[in-house]
Amino acid sequence: MTDYNTIIIGAGTAGLTAAIYTARKAQSVLVLESTGIGGQISTSPCVENYPGFESISGIEFSDKLYEQAQKLGVVIEFEQASKIEALSDGTKCVYSDNNSIRRTCQKIIIATGVVHRHLALEGEDTLSGISYCAVCDGAFYKGKTVAVVGGGSSALQSTKLLAGLCSKVYLIHRRDSFRGEQRLADQIAALPNVEFLLNKNVTKLIGNTALSGIEITDKNTLKTDTVLLDGLFIYIGQIPQNDIFKDTVKLDESGYIIAGEDCKTNVDGIFAAGDCRTKTVRQLTTAAADGSVCALA
Ligand code: NAP
Repeated sequence: MTDYNTIIIGAGTAGLTAAIYTARKAQSVLVLESTGIGGQISTSPCVENYPGFESISGIEFSDKLYEQAQKLGVVIEFEQASKIEALSDGTKCVYSDNNSIRRTCQKIIIATGVVHRHLALEGEDTLSGISYCAVCDGAFYKGKTVAVVGGGSSALQSTKLLAGLCSKVYLIHRRDSFRGEQRLADQIAALPNVEFLLNKNVTKLIGNTALSGIEITDKNTLKTDTVLLDGLFIYIGQIPQNDIFKDTVKLDESGYIIAGEDCKTNVDGIFAAGDCRTKTVRQLTTAAADGSVCALA
């Protein structure tokens, strides 16, 4: 007997989809979450590419997942998983809260997603006026001048959101083409209060306690410029947070859990779903797909 049939680590799209599918198989399921429901998508201003929802905010999408899981009897605990173990008899253990809590299960689904990559510049962790979430903090900059750095979908979506609130939004990207959807880039380019600063790297954060500006350096000419700002929104991708699993399952050189489309790790009964595993397409749809694949496996 184990405490649960399945323990899922992470309550983002992959984890909650896995929870919904597992609960619908009438199996007991616990989800452990260390920060907030919904994971990365909960900070997305507007999701327009998930089938069935023409347009929905990331928070609303996360709330719907949460409600659906709860109605099915999924237990969700707000605890930080600290260790996992695979015992020789096939039982798995999940430890949380610095190993003070130990629970047993038959299957583990790891769905820990990714965290924001930082620019790694001096002052990034100490200056006020720096954010990684336009949905959460955009309103503080109403009528002000801000910059978004990055060229993926997150940067583009956040630029669009901030353009509706701020007097001026610079979009700073290190290349001259975007990784995010071109359709969205075209929409933003047409906005009168948005200015693209392309082929530029942010090389310095300026300010004592609050950010007052940034130094940008042109990638080709190496010419530097100062841009005066009230706020900076950083959207330069993500990094996995799989360190606590590295003694149990294999990770690749970037820290992603090695698992294919079947979501199976090198340990029988331990699965990895969503952005935390090795994969080429990291989307809401593929996170949800992984959740269902794990639960049905
Ligand atoms: P991303 O697609 O990985 O893009 C990160 C961007 O940051 C890239 O343009 C990259 O530049 C740039 N970058 C990386 N390191 C940098 C550095 N040190 N300095 C400056 N720029 C740097 O990240 P994302 O936009 O957060 O998206 C992550 C995933 O979620 C993607 O698969 C995306 O499609 C998905 N997503 C989906 C939705 C949705 O609505 N469904 C919304 C948001 C995100 P380069 O292009 O030059 O590498």
